[in-house]
Amino acid sequence: MNTDPGARGVAVITGGSRGIGAAAAIAAAHAGWSVLLTYQRDEQAAATVVETIQTAGRLASSIRADMASEDDIAAMFEAADKLGRVTAFVANAGVAASQSRVDELTAARIAEILAVNVAGPLLACGHAVRRMSTLHGGAGGGIVLVSSAASRLGAPGEYVDYAASKGAIDTLGIGLSREVANEGIRVNVVRPGIIDTEMHGRNGRPDRAQDMAPAIPMQRAGHPAEVAAAIIWLLGDDASYCTGSILDIAGGR
Ligand code: NAP
Repeated sequence: MNTDPGARGVAVITGGSRGIGAAAAIAAAHAGWSVLLTYQRDEQAAATVVETIQTAGRLASSIRADMASEDDIAAMFEAADKLGRVTAFVANAGVAASQSRVDELTAARIAEILAVNVAGPLLACGHAVRRMSTLHGGAGGGIVLVSSAASRLGAPGEYVDYAASKGAIDTLGIGLSREVANEGIRVNVVRPGIIDTEMHGRNGRPDRAQDMAPAIPMQRAGHPAEVAAAIIWLLGDDASYCTGSILDIAGGR
């Protein structure tokens, strides 16, 4: 593995300011990518991740980009182009909302979940493919989509809307991987279970990761770094024959 700073090109990582995305950004930088990470609201958190990477002698930059905005998505790839050749894209940013039954969901909530979790990644994958595909004169690359165990468990009584959005991500991974398999691009999906991040608190359940531990065969929540390690492996040459794979990282759940 070439771990020289920036030697592997640029990795674009959405939602790289916190949680799984921040761990993936730091791991990608250590593995030799320059990193363009995005955030939506918390500029300071993004700046802290960039500083952590730069302090380690690696290259990183951040940009505010709402995954529900077509213009922001275009701007984030333009910012990445300034750092170098984009060779990796991680569609990590995703949102859920407060615990609700389907018969309580509003159209506004459903629209937001689908915009950020499905439409944004679809549009962003288009930008990534236009840069990486040999069909477009690119030199190939890797895409990893961050789904959720919710796509196969359904999240009943919690957030079926979120689970359905992640089901769409699984399908995007399968379809896109086959579409570009002969164009130098591998596309894979990671499906984390309960991971200890701020996401649960933002959805009104700060103790959810600990509370759910007894329901997980390994009896604990996962750490962001445990998901990041899988993402980096899937992006890298060690996974050279892996495409269209969906990797569960869920402690056996
Ligand atoms: P997190 O700690 O809440 O971090 C979310 C990241 O996404 C932050 O960087 C946030 O930026 C950014 N973000 C939020 N809304 C955005 C938007 N509209 N556009 C662009 N970026 C936005 O989340 P996480 O737990 O690391 O989750 C990361 C991914 O893993 C998500 O796709 C999630 O669905 C998935 N996942 C998580 C778990 C889990 O248990 N944590 C389990 C399965 C799957 P700001 O800080 O600026 O808001």
